[in-house]
Amino acid sequence: MKMNREFHTVRGYQMLNSESKILTSSMEDYLEMIYRICLKSGYVRVNQLSEKLNVRPSSTTKVVQKLSELGLVDYQRYGIIQLTEDGKSIGEFLLERHEIIETFLRNIGVKETLLKDTELIEHDVSLSALEAIDSLNKFLSDNPQVKKQYEVYRLSKN
Ligand code: CA
Repeated sequence: MKMNREFHTVRGYQMLNSESKILTSSMEDYLEMIYRICLKSGYVRVNQLSEKLNVRPSSTTKVVQKLSELGLVDYQRYGIIQLTEDGKSIGEFLLERHEIIETFLRNIGVKETLLKDTELIEHDVSLSALEAIDSLNKFLSDNPQVKKQYEVYRLSKN
């Protein structure tokens, strides 16, 4: 099964995935991690990916084979994984989405559960909510005094 053309846009990906969950949350996490590592080195090995995700190499191989069937990664000999063009554009989106949610949670004062909450929210947030959150993040970063005001308010309520 190959990606259909709509997958070439992030919007297409997000829409298709919210309808039919072509990528499970777990597959999204793998793809996001592959993208993170490939940004630095251009490829990633199965063992390295397993270590980063804290899973067994046999599980990694299974997921990577699925991603390969979907045309998102090239996985051939020697356990080397590389992203296809579709894989790169979706991976880039997944990393960006992660960062937008993490920044948002940080902005509203989440600390201890920051990563856990990011992992829970990122897979199910709609594109329109994500865009609104991104806009709020930018507003707060352009208006640090508003951000400060909120922090003071929040701490005064605790
Ligand atoms: Ca993530």
